[in-house]
Amino acid sequence: MKGYLRITGLHLYVQGLVTDLRVQEIIRYLRRWMKGSHTDFRGNFFRYHLSSLTEEKRRERTQQLAEELALLRIRDATRRDLGDRRPMEGEVAYEKRRIEGEGFKSFGILYNGFGLLRVFSSLISEDERHLTHCHIIFTNQLLGTWDGDDRRYHARVSVYGFPSVISITGVVEAPAKPREFYLKRRLGIPSEVLKDEFRGRFVDHGDPRLTEVLKGYAVQALIFHITGNPFCDDPDCRLYNAHWQEELIRAQLEGGHEFCKNHRRFLNRLGCLQ
Ligand SMILES: [Zn+2]
Repeated sequence: MKGYLRITGLHLYVQGLVTDLRVQEIIRYLRRWMKGSHTDFRGNFFRYHLSSLTEEKRRERTQQLAEELALLRIRDATRRDLGDRRPMEGEVAYEKRRIEGEGFKSFGILYNGFGLLRVFSSLISEDERHLTHCHIIFTNQLLGTWDGDDRRYHARVSVYGFPSVISITGVVEAPAKPREFYLKRRLGIPSEVLKDEFRGRFVDHGDPRLTEVLKGYAVQALIFHITGNPFCDDPDCRLYNAHWQEELIRAQLEGGHEFCKNHRRFLNRLGCLQ
């Protein structure tokens, strides 16, 4: 593992209402390869990083963050440029409530994922804004990134960077369901009926398998942090970049070995090093 950086701190956070997530289970899972590093769960990302400020500063910073977040909403998925506009008062008030509150549901608004990363990153203190610290945020916000091929924003499960953000809503919404699901829905069969028919072939809101799925994405974030490449071509490896729900289920829940041979070896060596 020569040449790879050593992580001294691995920090997990949540943002928004994430009742489907058993964070401690994910931490225990990651500790398998992080034996020598400090691993912690810090709760709500904004609350954690704003708590060191005085009340006045915190109010100011919250207002500023709310304005920045409001401008990251993707209003037209076919336009790369989010537009040069002033945020609307209602949007800023909504973002403020999201920052200050704990139990905010996701309302299907798509946010520019890399823009979110920049906003999150600006809150991390100087002494932890370093590659020896890996920060991973689980959010219920929907993340979008621009796809140059079909020239539109697409919802994603995760956006990796500093920090990395993993969307729980994205696990459900981003990878496509089986083709027949959409065909039948176009024929007018109600979604609820179809959900029954296709049960097990996609991950749904409140699905007990969500935490297990998210373990794989957390390892992707970790490997991105260390190597810059979070993905693998093997469809049975948890690092497979799934675009379909059935691919996601295969990689995260059905792969007999969790990781391909190469990544298993990589993680084992990482376990000895960290
Ligand atoms: Zn692999």
